[in-house]
Amino acid sequence: MVETRIIDGKGFAEELRKRIAGEVADFRAATGITPGLAVVLVGEDPASAVYVRNKGKQTLEAGMASFEHKLPAATGEAELLALVASLNADPAVHGILVQLPLPAHIDAQKVLSAIDPAKDVDGFHVVNAGRLAVGLDALVPCTPLGCVMLLKHHLGSLAGLRAVVVGRSNIVGKPLAQLLLREDCTVTIAHSRTKDLPEECRRADILVGAVGRPEMIRGSWIKPGATVIDVGINRVDAGGGKTRLVGDVAFDEAQGIAGLITPVPGGVGPMTIACLLQNTLTAARRLVGD
Ligand code: NDP
Repeated sequence: MVETRIIDGKGFAEELRKRIAGEVADFRAATGITPGLAVVLVGEDPASAVYVRNKGKQTLEAGMASFEHKLPAATGEAELLALVASLNADPAVHGILVQLPLPAHIDAQKVLSAIDPAKDVDGFHVVNAGRLAVGLDALVPCTPLGCVMLLKHHLGSLAGLRAVVVGRSNIVGKPLAQLLLREDCTVTIAHSRTKDLPEECRRADILVGAVGRPEMIRGSWIKPGATVIDVGINRVDAGGGKTRLVGDVAFDEAQGIAGLITPVPGGVGPMTIACLLQNTLTAARRLVGD
């Protein structure tokens, strides 16, 4: 029986945000410039509204400027593109984030492509995805960046480890696989058409769930001692009219099998905003040439 240790993403993210706040203070003292993050929210999706509020709060706490643009759901694509163009041109804005999902009448890819890649703190622009893929410096998507930070902090070098990433989205699975490759892991990307997913997972030294299916990855799919990173955030019925959050991994079953595991909530989730702040500072430094 393996002793399973919990990865405290919440605590790690708090420390990271403190460090970033210190670096922001130094940057402001050296350049007289306050890094600024603009967040654009279209429509009234309640989960998105919570994310945007938290992002704004934590941006201010880190000593950065926060610009929130809340637009009605009926906003047209041309109007949104015009806002993005004005933010691209605004010297006080170093990072731009357009909260997804966008309403169906707006072409999200078109909007993401309109963001200046130098201000693309979500790392979703094809220029940044391409730069990451060919091994150049890039603004890297926040959630995968947070996963790799946690992994390196707990495991040290990842070189030679076998990583299996379940999920191949452009937001999580694919960029995470690229980052793990950059760390010299041997990487497998699994998805809904993968044959014998449990067997693929059992080969993993590092197993990542980025699927969006509650507790799909069972304890018996985990190699004893493996490190498990659970990206999934799923709201499930907790009875009595209440709900609770669970990940993509059956957390209780993983006890005594996984060596290390991120909980949901309190694992990967808090790292995402911390990495957004990190990317905003990185973008500001590059734009200012510091
Ligand atoms: P997507 O829906 O874009 O992608 C899900 C992926 O899972 C797809 O590649 C899909 O495969 C794969 N998949 C679906 N069903 C199965 C299955 N039965 N077996 C194997 N693979 C399957 O989701 P995201 O990447 O955007 O998000 C994934 C999860 O991470 C969600 O729960 C989301 O809420 C969470 N998330 C958490 C964040 C955080 O801050 N912690 C940030 C972003 C996301 P295929 O491509 O073949 O369809």
